[in-house]
Amino acid sequence: MTAETTEQAVSTGPSEGRSRIEVRCPADGRLVGRVPDLGAAGVASAAKQLREAQPEWEAIGPTGRAKHMRNFLDWILDNEANLIGIMQEETGKSWGDASLEIAMAVDLINYYSGHAAEFLADRKVRSWGAAGMTKRLRVFARPYQLVGMITPWNGPLGGPMLDGVAALMAGATVLFKPSEVTPFTWAEASRGWLEDIGAPPVLANITGGAEAGAAVVDEVDMVMFTGSTRTGRKIAARAGERLIPCSLELGGKDPMIVLADADIDRASSAAAWGGMWNSGQICISVERVYVEAPVYDEFVSKVTEKVANLRQGMDPDGSFATDVGAMCTPAQIDIVKSHVDDALAKGARVLTGGKRAETGQFFEPTVLVDVDHSMLCMRDETFGPTLPIMKVGDEREAVQLANDTPYGLSASVWTSDRRRADRISRQVEAGAVNQNNVMMSTFQMTIPMSGWKQSGVGSRSGGAPGMLKFCRQQSVVSERIKLKSEAHWYPYVPKKSRFQAKMVRFLGAHDWRRRLGRAPKR
Ligand code: NAD
Repeated sequence: MTAETTEQAVSTGPSEGRSRIEVRCPADGRLVGRVPDLGAAGVASAAKQLREAQPEWEAIGPTGRAKHMRNFLDWILDNEANLIGIMQEETGKSWGDASLEIAMAVDLINYYSGHAAEFLADRKVRSWGAAGMTKRLRVFARPYQLVGMITPWNGPLGGPMLDGVAALMAGATVLFKPSEVTPFTWAEASRGWLEDIGAPPVLANITGGAEAGAAVVDEVDMVMFTGSTRTGRKIAARAGERLIPCSLELGGKDPMIVLADADIDRASSAAAWGGMWNSGQICISVERVYVEAPVYDEFVSKVTEKVANLRQGMDPDGSFATDVGAMCTPAQIDIVKSHVDDALAKGARVLTGGKRAETGQFFEPTVLVDVDHSMLCMRDETFGPTLPIMKVGDEREAVQLANDTPYGLSASVWTSDRRRADRISRQVEAGAVNQNNVMMSTFQMTIPMSGWKQSGVGSRSGGAPGMLKFCRQQSVVSERIKLKSEAHWYPYVPKKSRFQAKMVRFLGAHDWRRRLGRAPKR
């Protein structure tokens, strides 16, 4: 991929006179390319085209849409190496980390294209009460015409796919606004959809930053946002002003609780992967660990060994030669460094890692001990390859510390006692709990992913609700019996209306005195 070709490939809508965003590879600083920063005009023109295309997209139904979606799946698999290569260039990920995004895309397409007809089927509902006896009730799921999907830089393919597949399969058109930090992967995927497989023009790719994102919120009928809590707040405020629904998947500070009866080999491997996958740049990554005193030393020594053995770097095409890649942005690496420096200044110790590499935007996979809640690394989202580990006296202390955060995205609990795991899960204030595993809840499309507290509003996935959130519920009432008039229509006739009032009382009251309209006893 060259800078010039990518610049052309991503142009969407009017871009003359607009500034360009330059993207450099975080691993080695080489120029990846430039994209136009499309402002409000670019967003408005793309939105208009999508609105024109939407009625036909809705009309072809889930089976028609699934055909295009499966062609897209074939295209993704046929272009796997190219997509991962682009992802690597703009993120500095390892090949292994990046390839998991392909797996997610495949799973999402198969799940939603396979279930859309069932999820979107008209719902027949029984009527209630005497007034509904002659009525036939159904609920149609009608998509929002235009959904805005604003995503962060940590998953350039997985991020848009996570909700984009469900929204498109619901019959909505989608205005995608990927992060300005990593605009190329989704630009290529959008190009594949529109040009290579010739699918209908029901998605548009908007390149640009905060201004373009804000313009998306101003154009759409519903907004799905994934990103920081700070930006989520702004989007919710604007969506509130416009009275459009928004669904927010925000930051996290996920705790891992390791109890004395846990399988420490497995738990330490999970901590190494869960803390370091994607260089820790995952909303649901393990951000802090609480370990019961009897197994603390064993856990720390095993995690340290596993983390120290991780290979860091951006490995070439398909080699799977490294584990952990680069940090996406200089700002993020600064945050990680500030958390480590703060911890060290307050008495923590680094057991492995602890500093940024001399070349490239890499931060060494790091294990910190002797940490406490006075430190940034235990309270603020680090979003980097660090594992601060704290010793706790018992499960009560672990739960209390796990909940000592404004976030509530997910958590993990490690114990060989199932009842204990359930008991603790019910005490943890988070939208998901993984028992003896990490991060797995997010990859299960049949259960909801919902951030509690400041980690989000609404949820994604969870079977049908993951698709129906992109629809409006349309209630349709039709007549079972052809009547000339309804009992409550004009004109009111005293005899008929009195009889009706008596029937309301007779059928609705809970006791005989009221049913028969007797006066209350004094
Ligand atoms: P960010 O909030 O800075 O940016 C996210 C997106 O919002 C980008 O596309 C950006 O251009 C856009 N944006 C910025 N300002 C905007 C505005 N005023 N109006 C509209 N759009 C605007 O987040 P980031 O730094 O790209 O990503 C990291 C954050 O994302 C972390 O906090 C991480 O936890 C979170 N995240 C959450 C999930 C989840 O599912 N809960 C998943 C991945 C990442």
